[in-house]
Amino acid sequence: MVRAIVGANWGDEGKGKITDMLAEKSDIIIRFQGGSNAGHTIINNYGKFALHLLPSGVFYDHTTSIIGNGVALNIPYLLKEIKALEEKGVPTPKILVSDRAQIMMPYHMLLDACEEARLAGKSFGSTKSGIAPFYSDKYAKIGFQVSELFGCPDELMDKVKNVCVLKNVLLENLYHQPPLVPEEVFATLMEYKDMIAPYVCDTSAYLHEALKEGKNILLEGQLGSLKDPDHGIYPMVTSSSTLAAYGAIGAGIPPYEIKNITTVVKAYSSAVGAGAFVSEIFGDEADELRNRGGDGGEYGATTGRPRRMGWFDAVASRYGCRVQGATEVALTVLDVLGYLDEIPICVGYEYDGKVEKEFPTTAKLEHAKPIYKKLPGWKCDIRGIRDYEKLPENCRNYIDEIEKEIGVPITLVSNGPGRSEVIERKPLI
Ligand code: GDP
Repeated sequence: MVRAIVGANWGDEGKGKITDMLAEKSDIIIRFQGGSNAGHTIINNYGKFALHLLPSGVFYDHTTSIIGNGVALNIPYLLKEIKALEEKGVPTPKILVSDRAQIMMPYHMLLDACEEARLAGKSFGSTKSGIAPFYSDKYAKIGFQVSELFGCPDELMDKVKNVCVLKNVLLENLYHQPPLVPEEVFATLMEYKDMIAPYVCDTSAYLHEALKEGKNILLEGQLGSLKDPDHGIYPMVTSSSTLAAYGAIGAGIPPYEIKNITTVVKAYSSAVGAGAFVSEIFGDEADELRNRGGDGGEYGATTGRPRRMGWFDAVASRYGCRVQGATEVALTVLDVLGYLDEIPICVGYEYDGKVEKEFPTTAKLEHAKPIYKKLPGWKCDIRGIRDYEKLPENCRNYIDEIEKEIGVPITLVSNGPGRSEVIERKPLI
């Protein structure tokens, strides 16, 4: 059985925690897209971890963690992350890396940083992890697949030379950087070969066997629906698909095997990077929510950047669930809202003089104004509650209202950052 755990919003919904929790009953956890550009924060009995490349199931000794072919594989970063776990006493995880994954090169990160600097105030708010140049090269067929490290060295060197010619035009003429030297790029690839060799495997074939044996498999998504290049707020998106459907491709499994799509929805909104954000709030109101949010404040797990904050957006979340194909929803960080007398939720967008319930394309989104409905707050701390019925009435009403708006059953409610801080709920729809 395959379950995907994906985000309905702009990312940072708390997918890491839900994956960590569900991983206990799973055999295999797979990252299928993205790279080390976003982080999952996980708190468990070993301590607090910010994982960027490893799937959130690495803490159990019965699980296998897979970096799928769809991932942007930063090899030194992966090894650093594995070492950091070992240093904190986590048992050495079983990790497999797809032989079809492509390699994040140092020049991808350099080009990313140079382009951000060139765009200055008009930038996309990239984390400078090289993601856009990496995926551009993959689809331009000038990326390096892990398997190529183990192929013919002469052919690899020829390809390296060609890549250097192309990259150097940009580096020297547009960004005024020193050119790449083919021998150095080749040497880097050979270092990467030695580093990654112990983990490389035909993960698609491995998963084919695992599925035959009836294993429980989790696909762990990074970021959320609204950052998807096709269905998100293009161009303020990431460069690989964040949708559960892509899990089949990025892991190398049949699409019909994905039976459950657990979509993580945040009880309020947060976003990083540029782009329209209709229910965004500012000033003291935003600072208060930011500082109370998540676990120790809403600051990027990778960059430390303060996240942009907003109220729950039913229009965006309903759309986010729809494009994921959500079969159930985990509603997270609900505990954070306990300080509010009234909680606004955005139930419509006003644009072109009309109130709309459908999430529009970017040009319209830029002009949309939020229509709010206010719900009474519950004014207490709900952390520690394990029984749904023990939640304050106003809190249950807030959950019911969100469920009605998004139209997907809410089966899990997360009321704290820890692995066990979750409440099972019987959906009303
Ligand atoms: P991901 O990228 O979707 O995995 O999200 P993050 O790792 O950025 O998670 C957001 C933050 O919220 C992290 O610091 C988590 O520890 C924290 N978190 C997750 N669920 C909850 C929750 O229910 N309540 C609180 N207070 N924090 C949570």
